[in-house]
Amino acid sequence: MNCEEAQEFITALVDHQVSDEERSLIDSHLKDCQRCQFSFEQEQALKREISAAGARLHAPAELRSKLLSDRRIFPGPERSSGSWTERIFPAWPFPRPALALALTVVLILPILYFTRTAIEPISLAALEIQKKIIDGEVSVQKASNPDELRKWQIHAVNGEFAPIYFDLSAMNVQPVGGVVQEIKGRKMLVTVYAGNGLSVTCFTFLGTEEDAPKIASVFFDPDKKMKFYSFSKDGFSAVLHREGKVICILVSNMSGDELLALVRAKVQPS
Ligand SMILES: [Zn+2]
Repeated sequence: MNCEEAQEFITALVDHQVSDEERSLIDSHLKDCQRCQFSFEQEQALKREISAAGARLHAPAELRSKLLSDRRIFPGPERSSGSWTERIFPAWPFPRPALALALTVVLILPILYFTRTAIEPISLAALEIQKKIIDGEVSVQKASNPDELRKWQIHAVNGEFAPIYFDLSAMNVQPVGGVVQEIKGRKMLVTVYAGNGLSVTCFTFLGTEEDAPKIASVFFDPDKKMKFYSFSKDGFSAVLHREGKVICILVSNMSGDELLALVRAKVQPS
């Protein structure tokens, strides 16, 4: 028997699937050939490893407690030495900066991602839409007739809610157009008022006071028993309030105090 033939029989030998005749032929080759003897031992060791791993799969809790109590992996506090990374990764193959980077990518980035999503509520998205309307990136449907605009907006949300209307005619500010925007799966009715050098945009959508950004100052009006959330971004002032299930955000180039006074004067308690 030559090496090539022996190699073919080694797996069968490990699995005890050879005849007596084959076995004596291989045995005599292995006795004389170190190379084939070595691969036979390797194959035996591999089979033992696989069997042991299979057995461990049936006892994960036992393995877990065995690993956790193994002082070579998790040295106890009295014998603790080196940094926590050395204790948790005793044979970590990468240099420390690479480890730090890997941990940053795995742990920090998802946290940043979720935090950013959490602190960018729909109300701040409204301010971004205001900016886009001013910059002409969002085109607004011109309204020749405020009633028609209102009907079109209600139709756009299948009658689920109606835009909150503000009579600003005393300031010579009129509704000039509207648009429907969808943010995070929620439809927003946007009505643009303008006149007298002032711009006021009303965002109406279904929501709760949780939609107010955390940065907002909260003002409680004791007469109307309503809360007003005042905030600003990118040079625009905004005031949010709730009427039933509907949230209204007014965004304007007026100052925050002026806008708050305007909203408080115009809003009727629900
Ligand atoms: Zn051989």
